[in-house]
Amino acid sequence: MSTSVILLTREGAAAIRAGTGWGFVTTRTSDADGVGVVIAVSDGRGFPRPVGIVDRLHYLNVGDAKQNCTWHRVAADVNHWWLHCSAKRGVIAFDEFAGMIPGFRQPGGVTYLAITHAPDLDERHRQWATPEFAAWRVTPAGVLPLDLEVQREKAGTALLESHWPVGIVGAARFLVVGLGSIGGAAALALATAGAGTLDLVDPDRLRWHNLPRHVCGARHVGRMKAEAIRADLELLRPDTKVNAYGHDVVEDADHIRDLLPDVDVIVCAADGVAPRRVVSHLARRAGKPAILSCVLADGAYGDVVRLWPWPHHGCLTCRTEALADAGGLLPDLHADAGYGSAGHPMTAVGSDLHLVGQFAAKFAVATHLQGKGQHDQRFAGEHAVLALRPEPGWAAPYDLIRAGEVRWHSATPPRAGCSTCGPA
Ligand SMILES: [Zn+2]
Repeated sequence: MSTSVILLTREGAAAIRAGTGWGFVTTRTSDADGVGVVIAVSDGRGFPRPVGIVDRLHYLNVGDAKQNCTWHRVAADVNHWWLHCSAKRGVIAFDEFAGMIPGFRQPGGVTYLAITHAPDLDERHRQWATPEFAAWRVTPAGVLPLDLEVQREKAGTALLESHWPVGIVGAARFLVVGLGSIGGAAALALATAGAGTLDLVDPDRLRWHNLPRHVCGARHVGRMKAEAIRADLELLRPDTKVNAYGHDVVEDADHIRDLLPDVDVIVCAADGVAPRRVVSHLARRAGKPAILSCVLADGAYGDVVRLWPWPHHGCLTCRTEALADAGGLLPDLHADAGYGSAGHPMTAVGSDLHLVGQFAAKFAVATHLQGKGQHDQRFAGEHAVLALRPEPGWAAPYDLIRAGEVRWHSATPPRAGCSTCGPA
């Protein structure tokens, strides 16, 4: 395959902008991938200066460098021609192309690349989206437009600034307890929403039997789950600062309590009754909202509940007892029935667990944004039941019939004598 996209880093674009009219460009290419990256730029006949790398793990950081390219300062109309030729899949005769670029040299039978820089785009060109930089494949037979990807000045979630409260989410800190298949997906979703800081807490290591459902791959087997996700997020979402802890939320509750003053919202995706109750208790005592997520009844339902530390909102225990009184199943008793532990068969499929984790992350981000006056992030209720593989026979609120159904419930008040909801 011939080169079909050229990458120009921010630094490369800056070097061309600062140049005096033309220069040489050094590229590194992968013919198999059809990609070339600009790695050095000269000003005229000067020495080519390195212009940065795309990413420290980019596949074009190694390979042979080629000086097969030049750059040229041009009138805006030249890059408008690029737009026109790209749309029509057209070819420009070599002489016509050379005539538009003063001092353009004859390729002499070889194929090479040219980058044209048009700094003086007027309002008309901006409306047409004429590019500031354009790339061309130059052959004696004709000149073809090439795809040129220029790195933008802004990076990461900042690109969403006009449509998403990037600043608010970027200043927020979320604690995720339990980094199994649900919690791992929640952590990725929180980072993708632009979370500024994540604290990840899980005492377990990633094992082979986790791989069919976990967001982390085999390269992390043996590592602490929290650390594995931290390492993946460092590459995937570098704007999010991630702290990984090997704490057990029940045994190391004091360590978790110490983290809470700086945390905005807690997401609990831990297996089992005890960790969920501890998170409910710690969150209420710290005055922080918590989102608790799990799957129930062998993966038939996802269950995501929000606990506010407010007087009229009961804790997890109060809520569970209220549901039991109303005839529903006790979610806590089923929370760890057969999923995730090595001795039990797996029930829910990984993608269903990820869906629940992403839903919990959305709920957590919305909880924070709602508190900051983002009214489009008010949620439909305080407790959502998602039907994943619904089964007949469950009592309300788990009496959903169709997969994909989401039913919302309101909060239940504290019960008399509750040691979590009562005064400390
Ligand atoms: Zn309570």
